[in-house]
Amino acid sequence: MIIVMKAGAAQKDKDEVLRRIKELGYTSHVIHGTTRDVIGAIGDERGKAALQALDSLHGVENVVPILQPYKLASFEVKREPSVVRISDNVAIGGSQVVIMAGPCSVESEEQILESALAVKKSGAHILRGGAFKPRTSPYSFQGLEEEGLKLLAKARDLTGLPFVTEVINPETADMVAAYADVLQIGARNSQNFALLKKVGQLGKPVLLKRGMAMTIQELLMSAEYIMSEGNQSVILCERGIRTFETATRNTLDLSAIPVLKGKTHLPVVIDPSHGTGNHHYVAPMCYAAVAAGADGLIVEVHPDPEHASSDGAQSLKPIKFDEMMKKLRLFADAGGRTL
Ligand code: PEP
Ligand code: MN
Repeated sequence: MIIVMKAGAAQKDKDEVLRRIKELGYTSHVIHGTTRDVIGAIGDERGKAALQALDSLHGVENVVPILQPYKLASFEVKREPSVVRISDNVAIGGSQVVIMAGPCSVESEEQILESALAVKKSGAHILRGGAFKPRTSPYSFQGLEEEGLKLLAKARDLTGLPFVTEVINPETADMVAAYADVLQIGARNSQNFALLKKVGQLGKPVLLKRGMAMTIQELLMSAEYIMSEGNQSVILCERGIRTFETATRNTLDLSAIPVLKGKTHLPVVIDPSHGTGNHHYVAPMCYAAVAAGADGLIVEVHPDPEHASSDGAQSLKPIKFDEMMKKLRLFADAGGRTL
């Protein structure tokens, strides 16, 4: 249920609503709007009637059920788009299209520092790089783990770029959160509910990828797992889904952008690298994503893709990334966004 407060309702009225929600055994989430606050009361659907009675409290405009199964992620509970702050000068979901770029995996100090300097020079806002890699084969490179996180932190010190890196299990999540600016939940883990709950408790923004066989509703339910633990800083990422098509690694569902924008206030970013699996197709998908209203992109860039430990075929060389960024400005501009 959503308790919509009157515009200018007093703090003591809100406190009373919060007290009553708690008393009824529900968890409350206050969402501050531009003109009024709304309070989400989340919990067992069966006790809805008791919550409806809060209607009569002072300062309450009305009490309405949230019709969607995802509640906190829903437009019903928050009409304005959410802006997720990453650092002092980077936020996702505002007028700026935010570019995350870097290698699939952190491989060495030289490789990550060179990548970070290159993507920064071309205008990227956030560095990406995997330290823990969820590989399909147990024999593939699994990542440098904590050493990789230290190298990412070094790249941040050098360039000032915050970084996003993947967290693959609840056991190592605290360690990753101690270094990272944004926690990535990969496609293979996006319905790992224990992991989603864990990152919901960590107080760092989360980049949640869509699983390869996941519907949009399921993606929003996974976001709900994170948000219901108290972390509202969730960024959704479409990275391609599995279809019958074999010409691309996955089928990049760009229609997810307007669909999600009609259902949720959370920012939406596109990953054209995993979405296509081929560096030739990355730039056109970047342009299309921004034209369709994406709030950001996450792009794999490697100084020497031929020798990359993972995902070389879909990684852009820095020079190609630079060319893409120059052209992308035109698309951002046409869509009324900055880059
Ligand atoms: C990655 O970002 O390198 C990655 C493993 O992505 P995904 O989970 O989308 O496959
Ligand atoms: Mn990758």
